[in-house]
Amino acid sequence: MTNSVPSLTLNNGVPIPQLGFGVFLIPPDETATAVTTALEAGYRLIDTAQGYRNEQGVGEAIARSDVSREEIFITTKLVNGQHGYDQALAAFDESMKRLGTDVLDLFLIHWPLPMFDKYVETWRALEQLLADGRVRSIGVSNFEIEHLQRLANETDITPALNQVELHPEFPQEELRAYHDSHGILTESWGPLGQSKGLLDDARVVEIAKKNERTAAQIVLRWHIQAGNVVIPKSITPHRIEENINIFDFELDETDMEPIAQLNVGRRLGPHPNAFDLV
Ligand code: NAD
Repeated sequence: MTNSVPSLTLNNGVPIPQLGFGVFLIPPDETATAVTTALEAGYRLIDTAQGYRNEQGVGEAIARSDVSREEIFITTKLVNGQHGYDQALAAFDESMKRLGTDVLDLFLIHWPLPMFDKYVETWRALEQLLADGRVRSIGVSNFEIEHLQRLANETDITPALNQVELHPEFPQEELRAYHDSHGILTESWGPLGQSKGLLDDARVVEIAKKNERTAAQIVLRWHIQAGNVVIPKSITPHRIEENINIFDFELDETDMEPIAQLNVGRRLGPHPNAFDLV
């Protein structure tokens, strides 16, 4: 297997593979098969969430894999309906049963839900899980700068990572600068633009042709060179393979520059301040 994915280091010293496999919208009964394909292709980070309802499939694939549990980095996320100290601890226990693991690698608050104002209290539950050794690292998702600042002012531990919508059309430059100056890694969700046109953009297609790669590989390589952790999703075996096969080439300045021009500030998902689905 030549797909050797580099590691980055979280702010508490824990290593994290820079590329992983996202399982959002993979139906529960197809998840174990997809994760097995990903593990065989060389992926060692699996990104799930309580809200995806497929943690069990992730756990099944890991249990039956030849790859040892210690080599696999599992991320899951607290579902929106379980904000609050006790609720978060109880929901974590349920995830661990479904995933079939004793210690999780990374637990995230999925959305900040500022309208309910419980993310600070919820973060304290994650701090407790870390102190108890139930999780190796803790982080957040879809947090804006103002939410990160509030955690900095009112709690003890800086999130290891913030998983946010990020792709060339929405590169999140201001948030990334905040992350960089506070020791928070940036993880990109929707990295391929969720099949909404990015991969068909003539400029991306042109760079792909020049490098004899696919458009998806060009965009994923851009994330890697930007220093993001990236978690593309696919259920198609040849795409799962293609998406990890990006560590034997580099984009040069003449490739990176036109990709930077794709920034139109276009969010595909909801704004974190408005998203209140529980
Ligand atoms: P993505 O940008 O990874 O797009 C996935 C889609 O791109 C696939 O369904 C497929 O249609 C297409 N695709 C994949 N590989 C391709 C290839 N090689 N060539 C052509 N098309 C290809 O979007 P996503 O799934 O939304 O995001 C990735 C992961 O991020 C998710 O699976 C999930 O783990 C995570 N995520 C997190 C949040 C959050 O709120 N934290 C939100 C959305 C997604």
